[in-house]
Amino acid sequence: MAETATDVLVVGGGPAGMMAGMTAARFWPGKRVLVVRPEEDAVIPCGIPYIFGTLGGTDEDLAGRAPLLSAGGRLRTGMVVSVDRGNRRARLQDGGEIVWDRLILATGAENFRELYT
Ligand SMILES: Cc1cc2nc3c(=O)[nH]c(=O)nc-3n(C[C@H](O)[C@H](O)[C@H](O)COP(=O)(O)OP(=O)(O)OC[C@H]3O[C@@H](n4cnc5c(N)ncnc54)[C@H](O)[C@@H]3O)c2cc1C
Repeated sequence: MAETATDVLVVGGGPAGMMAGMTAARFWPGKRVLVVRPEEDAVIPCGIPYIFGTLGGTDEDLAGRAPLLSAGGRLRTGMVVSVDRGNRRARLQDGGEIVWDRLILATGAENFRELYT
């Protein structure tokens, strides 16, 4: 699988990753900025419009990729499965590799419940 080189690699394309990618691309116009996330399209993860009933469904709540692309950043669909910080390389589930100069991890968080005894 092909190897890609980028100046800034953002792993994760939720609100934090998209904002980080957009900001990096805007502030460093000469640099290559690449955001990687598994979702083709992602919704804005906010409950408020649903609570107030202003949205008919998730189709109307997609987080656009246009702001990132128009700032000069790129978006790639994929899942990062390992990060080698020493050699500045990330490996993707599809076998691809990305070499970076700067890395931003924006993979969000998952809720968990601690077990108390
Ligand atoms: C149902 C619900 C309702 C909410 N309502 C509100 C609200 O009303 N107001 C509010 O302020 N907040 C709300 N939140 C919280 C809000 O969704 C989070 O604060 C926000 O999404 C965090 O953004 P993030 O980019 O840090 O992480 P996330 O949105 O979790 O994004 C993480 C991204 O990283 C990607 N990723 C993870 N691992 C990898 C990997 N190995 N390789 C590549 N990509 C990877 C994920 O696929 C995703 O694209 C709500 C959350 C939920 C679940």
